[in-house]
Amino acid sequence: MEYRNNDPGAVQYGNFINYYEFNNAEQRLKLLPRDVWLETENIPSAEPYLVLDVGCNAGDLTQLFYKFLNECVGVPRNRKIQILGIDIDEDLVQRAQIGNECAPNVSYTRLDIMDATAFEEVNEYLRQYNRHSFDVVCCFSITMWIHLNHSDHGLQQFLQKLSGIGDLLVVEPQPWKCYQTAVRRMKRAGDEFPLFSELVWRSNVEECVQKFLEKELGRKKVFECLPTRWQRRICFYR
Ligand code: SAH
Repeated sequence: MEYRNNDPGAVQYGNFINYYEFNNAEQRLKLLPRDVWLETENIPSAEPYLVLDVGCNAGDLTQLFYKFLNECVGVPRNRKIQILGIDIDEDLVQRAQIGNECAPNVSYTRLDIMDATAFEEVNEYLRQYNRHSFDVVCCFSITMWIHLNHSDHGLQQFLQKLSGIGDLLVVEPQPWKCYQTAVRRMKRAGDEFPLFSELVWRSNVEECVQKFLEKELGRKKVFECLPTRWQRRICFYR
């Protein structure tokens, strides 16, 4: 991977190579609740529990999340967990594949979720299981990157499309302060996010995301975690 100005912190998509050295995956996982994952606890199901992890980076969080879900719904409910992790960055996906301790229940694919054909591949994965939606779609720390690269409309489309294929949506949006840091780093490396200045969703971006999910997409927020060490709020929508 080539870095702008040799700065691994100045990335276009959040595809930091050393992401988990500074955003600890274990700590975030500890904040997750154990009882939101199934809508109706009492209805037994023989179906695998399907998860899409959008922007999985090198897979560290995905691997831990798999083990966590196995404890919450896998073993106690006798459900087989299947996670598909996708990321735009080829090198990161390759690292995730090499470090995958949970194959074949966890698999990784390189995909740009904003690419029209990406949804065909994701739908193909669902078809293998005769399903139209995932039990959970995870968007951990990715909304800002979609927003900076695809503007307000792109982020809205992202939320709408993922909402269409996820029963439970887990979203950890970056607050505005992160945007300012990302833009500053990019500038220092002699580059920019050209769409940044035209964003309408700005200082209250987390609220905009929530309102859009609730008002436009008819989702209901069912849980919010305590803030992460980076002051991000992991929110759950049904
Ligand atoms: N979800 C992980 C990593 C967050 S970093 C976690 O919270 O621990 C954001 C990740 O999103 C990066 O790895 C980046 O490559 C990926 N990403 C950004 N834009 C993307 C896109 N359009 N499609 C797929 N992945 C994308």
